[in-house]
Amino acid sequence: MIINRSQILRTPGPTPIPEQVQKAMSQPMIGHRGKGFSELFQSVTPRLKPIFGTSQEIFLLTGSGTSALEAAVVNTVAPGDEVVVVVTGNFGARFADICEAYQIVVHRLEVEWGRACHPDALKTFLKSKKNIKAVFVTHCETSTGVLNPIGDLASVIHENSDALVIVDTVSSAGGTPVNMDKDGLDVVVSGSQKAFMLPPGLAFITLSENAWKAVERTPSKGFYLNLEAYKTNAEKGMTPYTPALSLIYGLDEALRMMEEEGLDNVFRRHETLMKMTRAASQALGLSLLTTDEEASPTVTAIQGTATLDSEAVRQTALKTFNLVLAGGQKRLKGKIFRIGHMGAITPAELLQTLILLEFSLFKMGYPVSFGTAAKAAEEVLKNEL
Ligand SMILES: *Cc1c(COP(=O)(O)O)cnc(C)c1O
Repeated sequence: MIINRSQILRTPGPTPIPEQVQKAMSQPMIGHRGKGFSELFQSVTPRLKPIFGTSQEIFLLTGSGTSALEAAVVNTVAPGDEVVVVVTGNFGARFADICEAYQIVVHRLEVEWGRACHPDALKTFLKSKKNIKAVFVTHCETSTGVLNPIGDLASVIHENSDALVIVDTVSSAGGTPVNMDKDGLDVVVSGSQKAFMLPPGLAFITLSENAWKAVERTPSKGFYLNLEAYKTNAEKGMTPYTPALSLIYGLDEALRMMEEEGLDNVFRRHETLMKMTRAASQALGLSLLTTDEEASPTVTAIQGTATLDSEAVRQTALKTFNLVLAGGQKRLKGKIFRIGHMGAITPAELLQTLILLEFSLFKMGYPVSFGTAAKAAEEVLKNEL
């Protein structure tokens, strides 16, 4: 019997695309050196500013989120420079790997996967180093579901060094507040396929005035990701190379949807989704990888047990209901599964996800009493409405 036809995507990227966004992306191509494009470009880029909490210009790159991570590295630090990378999981490690690919000297501050970086730990680490050019931090560490206290970490960095604060907000921007100017962040990067409700392929980057000074001093910035080219072209309402036009049509519509809902309401909805997921998981007797205080509103990591194989949960959910959950990465592989609840997902849709998770556990012979997940999630929702 077919129980569910279409795929229910609950991975922390890519995320479901709203119909209106899908439709906006089907518009015909236009010349990217003409007036039509520059009007579109000049309409969307300023509307990204509230999402990043900045008055700085946001630049659009054609590439997945990692292209913006790499742009942040090549434009601000040079081979031989020393940097600190806060590694709270797989994406922190990626920042370190990118730096090392460019012969940058990396000092990794390793934090237990599943925990956030404590500002005191960063302070102690920074005090033991000299001439650090930049500190790289992941806001939401997607591999563990932790939200790092980015404002507190940025304060510690500015108080204890002259380093730039470079932040990966790929799985947080658009789902939870990013306060670039208020928090003193120097470079902020993100990507389209997470909370922005878009397909993969568009990346965002924005820089503080201090970061631009560092860009000027950086001798070699590569070619495709050299941000000076993006800056001069943006002044004319253009990108240096062919933009991902369809995605920008989609972005225009996704921003309109966020504006209509109200950004504060978007953030509140994500908080609610997080609480519903956590309450339902715990009611089912499953352990969460992160504490309530350190949990991200966009993705939740749930632990398997000695008798419950987290990979088998994913396989059962996929086979039975076409429900796609994410697994653990690297050292967490086989230990956790993750539910992405960012972007276009509503509480009503998440209720379905949690019920299907419960049913998948039942199918696996795990002791469940039907209605447990829904009840816990509804109790949360009741207090949020
Ligand atoms: C998804 C993600 C990225 C980017 O990955 P791509 O596959 O290159 O889009 C980077 N950092 C974080 C925290 C992410 O969640």
